[in-house]
Amino acid sequence: MKILKAKYILVCDEEFRILEDKAILFDERILKIGNFVRLIENYPDAEIFNCGDCVAMPCFINPHTHLEYSANQTKLIFGDYLKWVNSVIENRSELSEQATQKLITDKITEMMRSGVGTIGEISSFGVDLEPCVKSAARIVYFNEILGTNEKFLDANWANFMGRYKKSAEHASKRFIPAVSVHSPYSTHPKLAKKVTRMARAIKFPISVHFLESRYEKEWLNSASGGFKTWLEKFAPNPKPFYSESSFVQLFKGFKTLFTHCVFADDFSIFDEKNHSITHCAVSNRMLCDKTLDLKALLASGICFNIGTDGLSSNVSLNFFDELRANLLIHTEFELNELAKILLLASTNFAAKSLKISNGEISTGKLADIAVFDGFEVEDKNEVPLWLILRTKAAKFMFIGGELWR
Ligand SMILES: [Zn+2]
Repeated sequence: MKILKAKYILVCDEEFRILEDKAILFDERILKIGNFVRLIENYPDAEIFNCGDCVAMPCFINPHTHLEYSANQTKLIFGDYLKWVNSVIENRSELSEQATQKLITDKITEMMRSGVGTIGEISSFGVDLEPCVKSAARIVYFNEILGTNEKFLDANWANFMGRYKKSAEHASKRFIPAVSVHSPYSTHPKLAKKVTRMARAIKFPISVHFLESRYEKEWLNSASGGFKTWLEKFAPNPKPFYSESSFVQLFKGFKTLFTHCVFADDFSIFDEKNHSITHCAVSNRMLCDKTLDLKALLASGICFNIGTDGLSSNVSLNFFDELRANLLIHTEFELNELAKILLLASTNFAAKSLKISNGEISTGKLADIAVFDGFEVEDKNEVPLWLILRTKAAKFMFIGGELWR
C-alpha cells in the first residue's frame, strides 16, 4: 500500500472538487482519501510519498494517437486536408520504415512524461505493437480497418484480422486490444458491419474518424467536391456509402469514439449514452480552417475527450501543449472555466468513453495518479488554469498503483 500527500488533489469528479492538504491511500486501486497523519497511523506499513506542495490528479488519457507516423517532421503537407492526405499516401511506407521501435518507445515516453497514463493508439500496420505491449502505460490498441474496392475487401479483412489476432495474444490488464473503422469515406459497409459485429462480441469501444474535413462533408452530403476525384484513384465510379446519420447509426448501442467531428452541425445524431467525440484541436487547425463547436457539443450532452492525434498532423505529443492550444483556440469560453472542462475531458470523460475504471481520484478507481510541481495561488480554483499554463512534465506517476518516473 502507498500513501500520497499533496497540497492540492484535483479529484476530477463531475463537480470538479479540489481537495487541500489531503492524502490518498492506494494499492492497485484507490482505497481511501483522507487526513495524512491519520492514514499513516492507521496504515503504518504503507510506503509514504509526501509531496506537500504538489498537485495530484488522475493521469491524463490520450485516446487518439498514430505512433506509426512518429517519424514525420516536415514531410507531410499541412494547411489543406486533401493535400495532406495525398502526402500521407505518398510518404506512408517511408515514414512507417523510419518509425523504429526505439522512436515509438521514445514518443510513448514523451507522452507519459507529460502526465499521460492511458494511450489510445490507432494502429494501421502493426509496427507499433511491440513498443505498446512493452510500455508501462495503459494502452488501448485500436486495430484499424479500411478499404473501398470490392475486389480487395477479403484481403483487407484478412490483413486486419491477422493484426487483431496478433494484438489479442498480448491482452492484459494494461494492454487492451480493440478495433477501429477508419472513416465513412474510406471503409466499405461490408467491412464496417463485420467490425461492428466483432466489437459487439469483444465488448470493447470502437474508434472512428468522422467529419474531419469540408471535403468529407461535401462528399457524404452531395457526392461531389475534391473527394470525388480523389476517391476515383481507389475504386471506379465511387459513390458515398453512407449519409452522416446512417454512418453514425452503424455504431448505435455501443461505445464509439468519433474522432474530430469538426464539421458536425447536429450532435443529436449521436447516441448520448454510448457515443463520445474525441477533439484533436491542433491536428484540426493544421488540416483545416475550422474547429469543433465545443459550446454546441457541451450543450448537446454528448461526452467528449481530448486527443493529440499523431505527429502526422501535430508537432508535439506533450499533452500540455495540446491543452494549451485548446485554451488559445476556444476563445468562446471563460479561461478558468475552460481549464476545468479540459482537465475533466482528459480524465473522467475519457475514462467513461473508453470504459476504463480510472480518470478520477475516488475510492475503488484504478490508482492512475499523476503528480505535478505545485505553485502559489490566491484561490484553489485557479489551480486548473495555472497547471495547464505552467506545466511541461509530471514529477512522477502511478499507474495501477505502480510508481513510474
Ligand atoms: Zn486519427
